[in-house]
Amino acid sequence: MIIPKEPKLTNEQYEEIVSIVEEYGCRIQPIEGHHRTIYAVLGEERETIMVNRILGLDYVDRFDAVDSPFKLMDAKSELAHHKIKIGNHVVGESPFIIAGHCTIDPKNPNLFLESAHAVKEAGAKAIRGGVWKPRTMPYSFQGDDSSIKILMEAKAQTGLPVDTEVMDEHQLMIAVEAGVDVLQIGARNALNYSLLKQVGQATADKQIAVLLKRSMGMGPINEFIAAGEYIAAGGNPDIMFCPRGTSPTMDGYRNYPDECITPLLKEKTWAPVIVDPSHSVGRAKYVPSAAMAAMAYGADGVIVETHCDPKKGIGDDPKQSITPDVLKKLIDDINQIWEIRKHYRKEMVVTA
Ligand code: PEP
Ligand code: MN
Repeated sequence: MIIPKEPKLTNEQYEEIVSIVEEYGCRIQPIEGHHRTIYAVLGEERETIMVNRILGLDYVDRFDAVDSPFKLMDAKSELAHHKIKIGNHVVGESPFIIAGHCTIDPKNPNLFLESAHAVKEAGAKAIRGGVWKPRTMPYSFQGDDSSIKILMEAKAQTGLPVDTEVMDEHQLMIAVEAGVDVLQIGARNALNYSLLKQVGQATADKQIAVLLKRSMGMGPINEFIAAGEYIAAGGNPDIMFCPRGTSPTMDGYRNYPDECITPLLKEKTWAPVIVDPSHSVGRAKYVPSAAMAAMAYGADGVIVETHCDPKKGIGDDPKQSITPDVLKKLIDDINQIWEIRKHYRKEMVVTA
């Protein structure tokens, strides 16, 4: 929809616009109002070069797209009823809880395996464990290829699906080859379009889901969904969106908690929302409240850093991992919130 600066285009301006849109197989339909005329673009109005050429005309005020820019991730796309199955769990049917270490310590595999059994016991549906870590400083522990074996051992012992973050093609290939069930794309890579494309292609038709974190900068929600669209366009629609707090931070928390975007995401996309309260608030003592808030906002689940002995952990674990005992109580509370929310969930499905 083209809105001109003046109440109506001159004949010359109209002809110029018609000739541009015709190059892209579109037509113009003027809509005459009492005071102003606006111009609908009929056809594929999402053609970026066409839109930019029109926006470059100094007599055009705005171009408002009527079609969603998301061909696959839009709530009304052909994937609207797509369900993601991870292990035995269909995401959206009951709370999907991913729990486990921030970071696997390759020198202490038993600690991770102990936590894996404990989170299963507490009711988690999948196990997280960072094999490779994005660290602010290059001198900090960066993870280790060898930890993939420990992660897969946890899967073998517990029978639960496993989640780990990948940051480049080398890690992606190792994780896919090993049989990781959920690939995490972290906040730092959430806008790395080359990686997103590669992830979509490498996981297509492989029953591997992607947990896409929100980028750290407080980017628009459409930018977040567009990142998911890259993975879907690459070939894998099994995408879950993961708000994890943004920056600038809220004083006292690690990031600015953003679980409140859950209903907005759900209005725009059919994809499940799994909130990460651990990186959002950044301290174990605040995590349960943030996780419950996320569920109250309508999240399909949470990913919670959990460690059987946080002080022995590395990475984020000592400061923000909860213990399996706390996780168990939290999961009980989450199940209650899920029941309370059933009425609203139904409403959301109807309006989505
Ligand atoms: C993590 O999950 O441990 C992590 C590094 O997350 P994020 O990308 O959200 O910072
Ligand atoms: Mn972490």
